[in-house]
Amino acid sequence: MSGHRHNSAMHIHTDDGRQSVTAVFGFHQDSDPHALHAPVLVLNASYEPINICAARRAIVLVLKGVAMTEEENGHFLHAARVALRVPSVIRLLEYRRIPHQTRALSRKNILLRDRNTCQYCGEGLSAGDLTLDHVVPRSRGGASTWENLVACCHSCNRRKGNQLPNEAGMKLMREPHAFNLHTSRHIMRLMGRSDDKWRKYLFY
Ligand SMILES: [Zn+2]
Repeated sequence: MSGHRHNSAMHIHTDDGRQSVTAVFGFHQDSDPHALHAPVLVLNASYEPINICAARRAIVLVLKGVAMTEEENGHFLHAARVALRVPSVIRLLEYRRIPHQTRALSRKNILLRDRNTCQYCGEGLSAGDLTLDHVVPRSRGGASTWENLVACCHSCNRRKGNQLPNEAGMKLMREPHAFNLHTSRHIMRLMGRSDDKWRKYLFY
C-alpha cells in the first residue's frame, strides 16, 4: 500500500532545491502548476522583508529548516499522501546580513526600476514597446550605467536623438539611480498590494 511513499528526509538536504522538492513529493499532475510559482515574501529573522521568491523555493527553504512559514496562501500541494500548505510569507531562522544589494545592470532591470514607464512622457508600456535611452548620448561620451540609462518610448527616443534632455526640451520624470534595496522594497510593496498577507510586513 505504502510502497511508493518516498522517504523524504533523504532528499531534503540537497542544495539543489529544484530537484529535491520534486523528488521528495513527486508532485502530481493535478497539482496546480502555478502554485509552485506563486510569489512568496521572504523575511529576514528580524521580520524585515528582504526578497521575493517562488513558492517552490520557499517550500525547500522551509523543508531544509532554513526558514519557517509565517503565512500560508491557502493552497495545498497534493502529493502522494502528503498535502503541503503553500506559504505566502516565510521567515529565515537565522539573521542574514544583506550586503548593499545592487542588481546587475540589464535592460530587464532598468525597465523594472522604471516600472515600464517612459521616463520622459510618463507613458506605461509593455517591455517590447520600450527602449533604453542614454540620457547623455553615447556619441557625446555618455556611459552605459544605471545613472545614464532610462526606459524610453520609441517616439521620445526619436525626438531626443543625439541631444541632451534640455536641448530637446525634455525633462526626466526623476533622476535615475542604481537599483538598490530601496527600489526592491518599493517593488515588494507594489506586489504586496494584491496580497493581504504580505501587507503587514511591508507597510510599516
Ligand atoms: Zn515617451
